[in-house]
Amino acid sequence: MKKISIELAKRVKDLPPYLFAAIDKMKQNALGKGVDLIDLSIGDPDLPTPKHIVNRMKKAIESPMHHRYPSYEGMLSFRQAVTDWYKMRFNVSLNPENEVLSLIGSKEGIGHVPLAFINPGDVVLVPSPGYPVYPVAALFAGGKSHIMPLIKENNFLPDLKAIPSGILKKAKLMFINYPNNPTSAVAGRNFYKEIISFAAEHNIIVCHDAAYSEIYYDNQKPLSFLQISGAKEVGIEFHSLSKTYNMTGWRIGFAVGNAKVLAGLGKIKTNLDSGVFQAVQEAGIEALKTKETVLKKIRDTYQERRDILYKGLKEMGLEVEKPKATFYLWVKVPQGFNSTTFVANLLNKACLLATPGNGFGTPGEGYVRFALTVSTTKTKEAVNRISKIL
Ligand SMILES: *Cc1c(COP(=O)(O)O)cnc(C)c1O
Repeated sequence: MKKISIELAKRVKDLPPYLFAAIDKMKQNALGKGVDLIDLSIGDPDLPTPKHIVNRMKKAIESPMHHRYPSYEGMLSFRQAVTDWYKMRFNVSLNPENEVLSLIGSKEGIGHVPLAFINPGDVVLVPSPGYPVYPVAALFAGGKSHIMPLIKENNFLPDLKAIPSGILKKAKLMFINYPNNPTSAVAGRNFYKEIISFAAEHNIIVCHDAAYSEIYYDNQKPLSFLQISGAKEVGIEFHSLSKTYNMTGWRIGFAVGNAKVLAGLGKIKTNLDSGVFQAVQEAGIEALKTKETVLKKIRDTYQERRDILYKGLKEMGLEVEKPKATFYLWVKVPQGFNSTTFVANLLNKACLLATPGNGFGTPGEGYVRFALTVSTTKTKEAVNRISKIL
């Protein structure tokens, strides 16, 4: 029989090179040798999902009504729980009918939203270094990414004035993300005000990724973009239950804000997926009602690790941002190294894995990202090992 020729579509061929591939290989090699690897490259909480959430899931899974297709936009009870949580946490009012949409993890919504609004040739404004899904989502929708560099001199906020006017004419949508992965930067009220008037002036939909809004330190709560007046007129905010409640594997998140934007995203979703397993939505409702004492314990755990790693790296003379939020440390590589060679050095000499900053985009070159997702003991050991090789 004649073999068919299987050729990847242009959008797949055009995917940016996967810069973590080399690191993955090095990691597999190291693990193959049976070495005691400390992996600080993981953006996934090591702590388990709180018990009350697991218990609610156990009960919900027994109910046959949850075994059927869920509703596309999410159960009204879940959207109501999101509305209540938003009111309590941010004092922002939402209409659960049309200003809340459930997502199969926020990655799903972020990946799909450009499909609803981007035509071929349209521009998507993308922060870099940043979550790799933003430029890929733009590419899959036939759009072009315009990179907004996040650099220390601008407190890792995009410089909106640096965007050329030719680009602004074609820009339809922008992604922003605070508290920021990977730089750990937090945005203030003035920045969001600037974003809102910029979006209104240039007719750009704002998609704010707030996945880390609840992983904060020293009791300094990050803002929601929707707390600033005018935000709901220009965009939406993505939230994830993954990082806040240690639920990365459960796949549940939500988007809130502008009803028209959410309806557009919802249109894509009704045609591609069938929503979130209702038992998981029940667990999500329970998660959103988690007691402050439980959440504080999670935050305190990260804070203890942050303090150990931050202090340790600082004492070694490394240039590092002290995170106000997120479970990442964004660290400048020492003289004589670049992102890749420093990561290779840490792995080969200290048996420690970090993420090279250039993997998040070219402006991340010269940095590495350390995650606070290993135990306090291992975090201390990591400091020990790094200090021995520097
Ligand atoms: C982890 C992460 C997400 C995705 O979270 P899910 O809800 O699990 O899909 C989105 N944005 C950023 C910046 C993240 O780090």
